[in-house]
Order: sequence, then structure tokens, then C-alpha cells
Amino acid sequence: HGSGTTGTGASTTPLSFELYPPRTDAAAMALGRTIDRLVQVDPAFISVTFGAGGSSRDRSLTVLRYILDHTDVEPMAHLTCVGSSHAEANELVRRFLDAGIRSFLALRGDPPAGADPDAPLGDLATAAELVQLIHRVQQEREPFRQVDVPGTPGAARIRARASSTRVAVAAFPNGHPRSRDLSQDVDILLAKQVAGANLAITQLFWVADDYLGFVERARAAGVTMPILPGIMPTTSPARLARLTELTGVEPPAEFSIALEIEPDATGQTDIGIAFAARLAADVLAGGAPGLHLYTYNRHEAVLDVVDRLGLVPKTTNERNVDRR
Ligand code: FAD
Repeated sequence: HGSGTTGTGASTTPLSFELYPPRTDAAAMALGRTIDRLVQVDPAFISVTFGAGGSSRDRSLTVLRYILDHTDVEPMAHLTCVGSSHAEANELVRRFLDAGIRSFLALRGDPPAGADPDAPLGDLATAAELVQLIHRVQQEREPFRQVDVPGTPGAARIRARASSTRVAVAAFPNGHPRSRDLSQDVDILLAKQVAGANLAITQLFWVADDYLGFVERARAAGVTMPILPGIMPTTSPARLARLTELTGVEPPAEFSIALEIEPDATGQTDIGIAFAARLAADVLAGGAPGLHLYTYNRHEAVLDVVDRLGLVPKTTNERNVDRR
């Protein structure tokens, strides 16, 4: 456990991490240390979740600002639009752009538990509409840029403005819990790309072929943006049960049984990390463009997965020393 070392080297496989906004000052302090560790493997971005309905807006922004101010890593803001009016969604996007955020994960989000399933969801019914809104707000703010047009005579120039914003969206290899069938999930992903999304991140999944098959169907349908596999090292039976409930995606029986029968927490951690590392290796072997790791605000398990995969050059043993 932890025999690998992680220094300041960059991985050749793009890595990214997901965090959630902490609820207490103590958790915020711990998260600062987690972020400091995660940036050592030079991730392409770190994303921060957003409570649907806006409950976490300021706490999400605080974490995003910390990443912006203290690291060289790009912070990515999850945003949801469920329950918002058009004006509110507009204001939300402006606020994040004002804070210096240039990278978003546009989500619809879920209505609060127990809400009337037929109640209106707000002015933006799908994540695709939020993708469009983010680009529009960003373009309105960006000053016109001078662009040279190759091959035009003399000083002919046009003024152009192009959105430099990265807008990611969610993808569901095993189907969104509310979707009719798996082909609908591919259609929806394509609609998000047409709306301007340039990256997809998947819901977690437990079987490499579920991801690889989904990517194949998405490509056949015309989805060209990278589809990052979302992987979470799941290191306790209780957490696995909770994730199954949240996502509706059933883990393989051998994995849940192995976690159940292992009495010791360290043993469970090892099982979860080994499982995630094998899944990650399999999707990378199948052509995945990188790995998006769900962290639960802890660096140990995800960095152990990265270590096991041998993704980061072993330049120093800084992390090992520190972890003794
Ligand atoms: P959409 O893809 O827009 O889909 C919402 C629903 O509408 C689905 O049932 C879909 O089948 C249906 N639908 C979409 N488009 C159409 C269409 N054109 N025609 C018919 N039906 C359609 N939630 C949070 O609250 N905060 C977070 O930070 C957060 N982060 C997440 C990160 C990732 C990587 C993932 C995978 C999910 C995350 N979620 C988060 C959960 C997400 O908000 C829920 O899964 C939500 O139910 C759907 O959001 P979406 O963006 O996928 O919506």
C-alpha cells in the first residue's frame, strides 16, 4: 500500500479530480491540504460540485477561488439550472465568470427530493440549454478580438469573438435513471455537443465495457468530444451501498461481496483501490482520453490509484515520507 511515489511530475495521461464544497471550517482546512496534494500530480483540472438549487453557491466559489489563487490547476465549476429562472441562471453564470472561472460542468441537476415530479423545473429544462447560456453570457462579456485572416490582401482583418470557455457535460454510460433507453442517453449527449459542450464526464460505472460500449455508440451517433471516464475508488461497503442508491448503477456482485466480507477497514481500502485501478487500466487500454477521479475530498485513495497505474513519473518520494 503506497509503495509508489509521487513527486512533482506530470502524468502523460490527463487526470482530473472532483471535490465537493466543505460544510465546516475544519473540513475546509482539510480540503486545502487535499488540494495541495492533488495538484502534485498536475491534473488538467479540478472540478467542484454545486448543490442543485444554489444552496452551495458561495461555498463552491470559495473552493474554486482557492484553486485559482493557490495553484496552477484550472478550476472547473459545476453549475445546475434546475428551479432557476432564465435571469437567475444568467446571473449565476456571470457571478462565476466575474470570479475568474473559465471552465464549467453544465448540469440540469435534480429537483429537491419529494418535489412534485410534474412541477416545472425552471426556465432551462435541460443541461444543453445551460451549455448555450454559458457560451452566450461569456461571449457577451468577451471584448472583440482582432483576428488575422490568412490569405486576405493587405490589412484585411475581421473582428471576431469566440468563446474560450470550456463547457463540460455529464454522460451516463448505464443510462440516466429517468431515461427511456440507452439510445436516449446518446441522443441527449449529442444534443449537448450541438449546444456547444466540448467535454463529457461520465457518471461512475463498474464495468469497463459499459463505458467503452457507450463511447462506441456515442461516436457512431456523431459525438466527437472527449468522453472522460468518471471513476471512484470505493473503499467501504456502506459507501458502495449509498452510491448504488444514488446512481442506480449496480456494482458487480464479486466486488460488493469482497468488500462485505473483508472485516478490516485497511483491507477494504485495498480492495476498493485495486478495483478502481483495474477499471481505470481497462478503460485506458480501451482508449479512454484520461481519468476523472471522484475524491470524496480525500487525496489518499485517488492518488493510490494513480500510483498503482504508474501514471506519474517517480521523481521524489515526498508523498511517502509525509504519509508515514
Ligand atoms: P440532462 O442531461 O439535461 O438530463 C436531465 C433529464 O432530462 C434526464 O432524465 C434526461 O433523460 C432528460 N432529457 C435531457 N434532454 C432531453 C431531451 N432533449 N429530451 C427528453 N429528455 C431529455 N448534480 C448536482 O446537483 N450537482 C453537481 O455538482 C453534480 N455533478 C455531477 C457530475 C457528473 C459527472 C454527473 C454524471 C452528474 C452530476 N450531478 C450533479 C447529477 C445530475 O445533476 C443529475 O444526474 C441530473 O438528474 C441530470 O443532470 P444532467 O445534466 O445530466 O441533465
